[in-house]
Amino acid sequence: MVDNPYASWNSMAHNIAYGAWVLGILVILGYIVRLSSIPDNKDKYDFINRHEVKILWYATLIIIVGACAYFNGNIVELTTVLTFVRIFLTAMMGTIAALIIQNLLKFYYPFFIEKRLKVLRYKPRISPKTGKPMKLLSEEEEDAHLDEGMQAEENVFSVDYDVWKDEETGFIKIEKYAGHLHAIQCPECNYQTFKVNREEILKQPTDTEEGELVKHYQCSYCGYKAKKTVSLKAQVKTPAAATA
Ligand SMILES: [Zn+2]
Repeated sequence: MVDNPYASWNSMAHNIAYGAWVLGILVILGYIVRLSSIPDNKDKYDFINRHEVKILWYATLIIIVGACAYFNGNIVELTTVLTFVRIFLTAMMGTIAALIIQNLLKFYYPFFIEKRLKVLRYKPRISPKTGKPMKLLSEEEEDAHLDEGMQAEENVFSVDYDVWKDEETGFIKIEKYAGHLHAIQCPECNYQTFKVNREEILKQPTDTEEGELVKHYQCSYCGYKAKKTVSLKAQVKTPAAATA
């Protein structure tokens, strides 16, 4: 048997592959450990919203690089043509794998995230005063606890404030949820990819007259656009809506 002149290359490629796979798994494990070390539900919510898809995407890329290295770790013969064939095949398969995962992360994975975020958002908060679960106030009840700026923000910037109240002691916990960071289900394609991308005030509210705000939604999957008109009454929220 003749010694394979590419033996050292092959073993290096395998080592790169194993190293990349271990690194990719460590990135995911590191994320899981950090997430589970966050005690507060709202902080968890924000952490998932901000980082989860990005982290999984980075881990995917690292693991795919490993797969590309592994694919090139069994060389016994190499000519100029074979080299180009290998480079071409590796780049093509790597790109296809990355695109598939990217699409899964962008369009299917959000459904899974959404379910978990909902649980985190509405899980009763525990009062630090009494250790008992607090009550989530309704839109009408919560206004008493939001200052003018917060109420204006709820009207204008697709921001939602959740107000939790400890009814025994009156302790209040206010949590802010930003609409433009968070996609909802698209009415056209049903993916979780429908987001506010622009807001404009058509008419400033005055003391006597209502103002008007238009929220422009766009789906990042199918491109479907919709407008939602919200009236801006001074300090009062009116859930009037129209879709175009
Ligand atoms: Zn859509």
